[in-house]
Amino acid sequence: MRKKVIAGNWKMNMLPNDTISFIEEFAPLVKDTENEVILCVPYTDLFYALLNVQGTNIKIGAQNIHWEDEGAYTGEISGKMLKSIGVEYVIIGHSERRQYFNETDETVNKKIKKAFESGLKPIVCVGESLEQREAGITDKIITNQVKLALDGLTGEQVKNTIIAYEPIWAIGTGKVATSTDANNSIKAIREEIKSIYGQDVSESVIIQYGGSVKSTSAKELFTTSDIDGGLVGGASLKAEEFSKIVNYNK
Ligand code: PEP
Repeated sequence: MRKKVIAGNWKMNMLPNDTISFIEEFAPLVKDTENEVILCVPYTDLFYALLNVQGTNIKIGAQNIHWEDEGAYTGEISGKMLKSIGVEYVIIGHSERRQYFNETDETVNKKIKKAFESGLKPIVCVGESLEQREAGITDKIITNQVKLALDGLTGEQVKNTIIAYEPIWAIGTGKVATSTDANNSIKAIREEIKSIYGQDVSESVIIQYGGSVKSTSAKELFTTSDIDGGLVGGASLKAEEFSKIVNYNK
């Protein structure tokens, strides 16, 4: 059986002091969960987060990496740098990065490969826009994004990849996908992975749903056949609310 993985994406929010007080309140609330708990925090909070989660079941992730280890890339951070301070996960290809920072399927693929080479586990985001959904091409868009993102990876690497299905129209809008729609889209992604890597890989890979998940919607989403947890933005900024999402099955 696949584990449920629940990751918070703080985006460009929270200062070091906020990080410390969040973890102080959050850690005791989630200490008994069997679900995997990840906080993906801004670069400036990573060090504080890593120090403060020591001895807890909370893992730490970043929100982006460059596809090179080092060099003349002003303002960028590499996977090697993140690994050196103890980061374990990295979000790659979030729709906000695709939309505002020219992230493409090609750069997403290069970054995923570099994440593995650096010893980080990637959380890879895919999702359709509202126009694509209304045109009835959701599955075509998301399965193609997945195929291009995973191009050239081994089955073992795909097993260690977390995919986050995040319809763009649901991110930060308060509009959550129905559990049936989200589950069907995730099934389509799993089928695509099966056609390339076989059943063993497709049944092992963790595929989350993301898009306006709240404590009130988490249980219905996460108890479907194929949704393996969530990537949570706004609702991960408040320790109590995020703990209820993590503890959806308590
Ligand atoms: C996200 O940032 O990945 C996300 C899903 O945001 P929100 O939960 O705020 O919609």
